[in-house]
This record gives sequence, structure tokens and C-alpha cells, in this order.
Amino acid sequence: MRVRFAPSPTGYLHIGGARTALFNYLYAKSTGGKLLLRIDDTDPVRSKKEFEEDIILQLKVLGINWDEGPDIEIKNSQGKVQSYRQSERLKLYQAVAEKLLSQGSAYIDPDDQSIRLKYQQDEVTFNDKIYGTVSFPVPSLGPEPVIMKADGRATYHLGSVVDDLDMEISDVIRGQDHLTNTAKHVLILNALGEKLPNFAHLPLILGSDGSKLSKRAEKDPVLVRDFIKQGYLPEAINNFLALLGWSHPENKETFTIDEAAQVFSLDRIHKAGAIFDRNKLNWFNEKYFKSADTSKIYSYLKTYESNNELKLKDFTDEEIKTFQTEYNSISEIGTFFDEIFNEDFTTDPEKINEIEGDNGEKKELLKTFYNFIKDLPTEDGSSCYSKEQFTKICNTIKNSLKLSPKLLWQTLRTAIIGRPSGPDLKSIIPLIKRDILIHRISKHI
Ligand code: GLU
Repeated sequence: MRVRFAPSPTGYLHIGGARTALFNYLYAKSTGGKLLLRIDDTDPVRSKKEFEEDIILQLKVLGINWDEGPDIEIKNSQGKVQSYRQSERLKLYQAVAEKLLSQGSAYIDPDDQSIRLKYQQDEVTFNDKIYGTVSFPVPSLGPEPVIMKADGRATYHLGSVVDDLDMEISDVIRGQDHLTNTAKHVLILNALGEKLPNFAHLPLILGSDGSKLSKRAEKDPVLVRDFIKQGYLPEAINNFLALLGWSHPENKETFTIDEAAQVFSLDRIHKAGAIFDRNKLNWFNEKYFKSADTSKIYSYLKTYESNNELKLKDFTDEEIKTFQTEYNSISEIGTFFDEIFNEDFTTDPEKINEIEGDNGEKKELLKTFYNFIKDLPTEDGSSCYSKEQFTKICNTIKNSLKLSPKLLWQTLRTAIIGRPSGPDLKSIIPLIKRDILIHRISKHI
């Protein structure tokens, strides 16, 4: 089996494209076949290097790996390095266009000198592994398609057919929105007298309101890079994508892509539109976040930090374990720490009044705390108090003022990080610079 993911680099990798790539990957893995990455950059105006780079990067981030592609040197039988970019394969398309012209299956449009396919059948039929027998009356496909522009560039239709033949693609797996393209491709293949590959069209991805997902782009993220930037874990994205149109034979919900590859088959793909349910993605994300190794969370936090131009700090294993119980996602940690490390972050005195207990006691606590730390250097000379030193300070104050531990912690926490609950304050203090701490408390006295 040889399958391909053939994106046009006219935009960043969309979640729908990632689903197509993943299904091709799963199919290749489940059959012991090969996955090719082909860059369909026949449109010189809309194709951009930046988009190609993003597609390659995001696929790598997701762990969807290919066996052949533009970044891998593969030599053909004549020892020549194969190209996996359509813009570098024009000669091949020109030769096939010539052939179609000479045999009368194509003609030159007198208006613009482009080459068009000549319709020679009334109906076109092919078998689809998901949709079964698919037929179109040929006139319903619209005007005879341009296969080559007047400037000698192939269009997507010709490039796709010629490359799938040349690259010996056995199964063409792509979105359902390509069904009518496939009909045109079958006409080209018929004209060339070539055998058809297997076709499998994946169901459309719909938003939760049933509209087409791509139409909702402005409101919610649909680009893989945005999900990654927001700290979604690749494992969660993959698990979620695998279920967009396919179901596990044991109806399992949670599985890795390797596990999916072991049981993947096209016959478990359904025809009905697959609903892109963000809550479900969040659910997967939380699940993978909670169960990931600390080293993994650590590296995802680093990625999150650089993607969002943040400067967090090097968290210890212990801190990360705390985060995994206190938070639900990488972005919650990132947002929270970005906020609390920010010098301009202010906490609302009203929030302190909302805490259960005597307001006078709370005020006294904050004053005492402020006076205690304003001239107290850190024991180890670093810019933050250690957990131990902070615990000592709090115990001293608690004993001298005879406060309930609850009032003490809730008040300090609200004054320092703006929330009465959340992660253990003792593990946060070593991350907040002492001068920021003093400044923050000063606003409450
Ligand atoms: N390059 C086309 C696209 O990105 C489709 C590729 C294909 O034939 O699968 O939509």
C-alpha cells in the first residue's frame, strides 16, 4: 500500500488537513504500507514556502511521520533524486498533457490557450471504500476542466492524477469535498487507459452547530499551530482527530496513534459528517495532561513558553506534579504564571473582603506580613523566598497574631495571586520575585 497526504501550501495546516494526514498515516501503518508527503504547489500565486514549512512542522509536532517526502532524499530507478513538490515536476505533466492532446482526449481552448480535458463519457462511476459506488452525470461536473494553463503549468487535476500514477499510489484517501474532483480525475485516468487507485473519501468535519468547520475560522481556532500555541497536547489532538469519522473496534475512546494504527481499518469510517466538538478535545487534553510524565509536561511547558514568548521559569518535578493536580492544561499553567509573574499584575482588595473572616484581622495580617518581609532578605541570596523560608515567615506571623490557618492562607493567596484557591501558595512563592511580592502586598495595607 502506498498512500499520500498532498496538501496545497496555500495556508497553515488546518485541523481538517491534519485529520486527512492522520488517516493516511494510520492506514499506511495498519497495512505495513508507506506514507508520502507531496506538496501540491501548482498554484504559484497562492503557494507559499511559509505554509509548506508550517505543514511539515505541525505534522512533525503531531508525530505523523512520512516515509517519502520533500525533506527525505529518495532516488528513483535512474538514481535521480525524486521531487515531492509539484512545482518541480512540470515536465512530467507537460508530457501527459501532450499525450492527451495528441490522442484527442484534450484540446486547446481557443479563448485563452489553456488545455482542457475533453469529456468523452456521459457518466462517470467509481468505487469508494466509504461511499460505495459513486456516479456522476458528466455534465453535472461543470465545464471541461483546464488541465494545463496557457503558461505551461499544470492544474491540480492533472498534477494530482499524474503524480498519483508516477508515485504508484494505491489508495487515495482525502476529504469528501474532493468527490467531484475525483470524478474528474477518473475521467483523466480513463482517457489515459490507466487503472484506478482505490478511493476513500473522509466525512466532512462540521462545527457543533452543523456548519462547515472552515467557515468558522475567525471565531474558534481551526489551525493546528493555534492549538499547539494554546498548549494542546499532540496526543490529545491525535486521539480527538482519530475519532473524527472513525471509531475504535472496541469502542475505546482513549488511545495513542500507535494503538489506533494496530486496529485501524477503512470500514470503520462513517459517511455522516463528523462533529468537531471542542469540549471533547478539551476533555482529551485534560486527560492526557493529568496522566503525562512530568518530563513530558516540562518539555510542553517549554514549547508553550517559546510559542507564546513567555519567560516562566524552570519548574521542578515536584512543582509540575502539583500543577498536574491543580490545573487542567498547559495553558492554564502558562496563563496563570504569566499573570502572577507580571510586575503589573494587581490583586483586587474587594476579593480579600469576600473571604470568610474578620476584615480587620485580614488587614492586620497583611500589614504584619508586609513589615516582616520588606527588610528581610532571602536566606539563599536569590531573588525569591524559598518554600522553607516562606513557611517559617507564615508560621511566625500566624502564631504571633493567633490566626486560623485558613484565614492566613486565603488572605495571603488572594493578595498575592488574586485567588483564594488554586495551587499551593508555598510552591508558588519560590517563583515570584521578592520585590514583586512586596509591591503586591503594599497595595493592600
Ligand atoms: N492538494 C489538494 C488539497 O490540499 C488535495 C490533495 C489531494 O488530492 O488529496 O486540498
